[in-house]
Amino acid sequence: MDDETRLTYGSLPPEAALSLLGNDVRTTILWTLSEARGGDGPPPILPFSTLKERTGLDIDSSRFNYHLQELTGTFVERVDPDTRDDAQLVSGMAGPKTDGFRLRPEGTTLIRTVRAWSIDGDGSRARVELDQECHHCDGTLIGRYENAIFAVQCDDCDYLYDYNLTPPGIVAASDGRLDRVAAFNRQQRRAFASGICPLCAGPLDSEFQEPAETGYPRSDLRSVLIRRGCAHCGNKDNLTVGEFLCADAGLIAFCHERGLDVTTTPLWELPFAATDRAVTVETTDPWTVTLQIDLAGDRLVLGVDESLAVVKRRRA
Ligand SMILES: [Zn+2]
Ligand SMILES: [Zn+2]
Repeated sequence: MDDETRLTYGSLPPEAALSLLGNDVRTTILWTLSEARGGDGPPPILPFSTLKERTGLDIDSSRFNYHLQELTGTFVERVDPDTRDDAQLVSGMAGPKTDGFRLRPEGTTLIRTVRAWSIDGDGSRARVELDQECHHCDGTLIGRYENAIFAVQCDDCDYLYDYNLTPPGIVAASDGRLDRVAAFNRQQRRAFASGICPLCAGPLDSEFQEPAETGYPRSDLRSVLIRRGCAHCGNKDNLTVGEFLCADAGLIAFCHERGLDVTTTPLWELPFAATDRAVTVETTDPWTVTLQIDLAGDRLVLGVDESLAVVKRRRA
């Protein structure tokens, strides 16, 4: 990563933008502007006096203003209807323009991230038994949430079906918890399979990995893993060949025509995506692999090369 020339949209080096947050007056301002939004609609514009009053901070106006100005241009924007000096504003997000302050998109994203990783009550740990047998040994699949990771693993043979950074709210939900985790993971994998970082929309690089090099348990049950990473923000994930090809329109259509919707089925319920049993490694230098799906008496064969291009496509 080349951090020397990297700037935030507010034209600050990333560390400088982060250091702006190291003050409780400023974090209170950001939170207050976020609370004023109430979760929907364009960010409301709060006049200076209203904003100060809502923060509940017992400090004089000049000190409050100093900290507000420090945030302005990076996490907060000033709206001044008289000067129309709103080049920095998200003017498309209409609404009456009054004199005041509101969150910039960076401030909204920052607070949204904090909210996404916060829940009411205890969501630090969870354990759930899945209504799905292990594709390798018919053992019981267990979903566990710990240290912000949701993992699905066979309780008998230890094969790891899923391992994903997951916000606690999904896991703490009492209803439909597994469906939500499955949908969240599928959407993340889909982005990685498509080559677009789900955090920053940057391009992803890719690398085929020998299972033994990945640290995954039971690497003896795997053939290969595709590691994809974003050089811009550092986001990364590992995909099986089947998970990668679940973004392929031909695979989606083949399965759908035979009553299987891979766009809604949890990945751990798809043997060809959850395991490598349908995968054949043809060559390793460079890598070429084949996925063979047998469904309703028909067969789909897809071949992928090291650049992740589908180089073979055959129905039988
Ligand atoms: Zn098992
Ligand atoms: Zn990224």
